[in-house]
Amino acid sequence: EQAGDYRILHEAALRDYLAGLPDLKALLGDPAGWEITEVGDGNLNLVFIVKGASGGVAVKQALPYVRLVGESWPLPLSRAHYEYLALSRQAQLAPGLVPALLHHNDNLALTVMELLEPHIIMRKGLVAGTQYPGFVDDITTFMARTLFFTSDLALSAAEKKEGIAAFAGNHALCKITEDLIFTDPYRIAEQNRWTAPYLDGLAASLRDDMELHVAVSRLKLKFMASPEALLHGDLHTGSIMVTDSQTRVIDPEFAFYGPMGFDVGAVIANLLMAYFASAGHERALGERAAFESWVLATVENVWNEFARKFLDLWRTGASGDAYPVSLFAGEKGAARLEVERQAYVQRLFTDTVGFAAAKTIRRIFGLAHNIDFELIEDPNKRAVSEARAVRLARAMMVEAAAFRTIAEVAGAARKLR
Ligand code: ADP
Ligand code: MG
Ligand code: MG
Ligand code: MG
Repeated sequence: EQAGDYRILHEAALRDYLAGLPDLKALLGDPAGWEITEVGDGNLNLVFIVKGASGGVAVKQALPYVRLVGESWPLPLSRAHYEYLALSRQAQLAPGLVPALLHHNDNLALTVMELLEPHIIMRKGLVAGTQYPGFVDDITTFMARTLFFTSDLALSAAEKKEGIAAFAGNHALCKITEDLIFTDPYRIAEQNRWTAPYLDGLAASLRDDMELHVAVSRLKLKFMASPEALLHGDLHTGSIMVTDSQTRVIDPEFAFYGPMGFDVGAVIANLLMAYFASAGHERALGERAAFESWVLATVENVWNEFARKFLDLWRTGASGDAYPVSLFAGEKGAARLEVERQAYVQRLFTDTVGFAAAKTIRRIFGLAHNIDFELIEDPNKRAVSEARAVRLARAMMVEAAAFRTIAEVAGAARKLR
């Protein structure tokens, strides 16, 4: 394929294309018997599942525009390149926690990967009230390893800057985050929506809240100007596929070098939203109490295990140019460095709290909503759940540093239920 050969591969063209790849043909069996279904439920791309006599694959192709909106909102195909690059890196750093890559074509903006089956999108499982006992261990391994090993704590200065450069071209995807998460929910914007009329007053108060505008602008600046590590960039529960014992992270097309708290905050925010939405999904009072306790325990465990694993990696695997060992020699140096590690992680916690708040507010007032809330049929109940989430999020954003521990965040959520 030559540059300029991009075309959207619908069923027949996709069959021909894949049939021309010997490895895939061997994996799937006779192309005449392939069943091809488009399953994309995301906002941006096409995803096909191809099943043959001897196996299946998932095929993701980027469109030259935002799927959710249409051709009026163009978006570069190069995001497929960054997604592939990020998946490759994540596969090295967190083996077994992303789908295996089978083929990639930059010109077609197309990636063929392992078919995750019987995995489902985690968000759907959370709406149904399912608990995932292995999730904390898997997601914290994923985050601790991908963030630590792409940071200055693990890389040489040259490696780090080459990493930044490799993803710097993904700025159109960053711009989506900058606009849709950090700006639009706080002003009048055509794409905004919320559960009207119930949340009209709350939407107006967000637009008039200068403390909130300062806090979200600080977060936006941090997002734009802090290349700490290679982020997934879109790590919500719709980018995680699960079974009762397995976790796989998908869809890193927003990957770039940014502040670590953005990824950790995304996971925390989406668990908190699952918690607040849960009341709207119960058919009998208290029916989901065990699930709700599990979700809040998971919020706490995700942060605590992430911090523990990250600190462990730093103590044992620090080969980067930051914090030169020669400056922290002897017992005195070791003790001082350990205090500094704790301070670093506490700062990261404050970032996480703030970013989690931003990720929550955008799902309630911005363009892209999530099924946790959207599937609550009674709009009055939906608005009650959403308003609770916003109340906590406002406190988390404006007074992020007042939350000293994740237990305080979970405790504040519990009080609002
Ligand atoms: P988008 O970038 O458009 O959000 P995603 O990568 O999130 O696309 O994929 C959209 C949907 O396709 C997912 O929600 C999931 O249902 C399905 N999907 C994606 N990758 C796989 C895979 N490897 N195996 C099975 N299903 C997948
Ligand atoms: Mg997606
Ligand atoms: Mg496991
Ligand atoms: Mg995506």
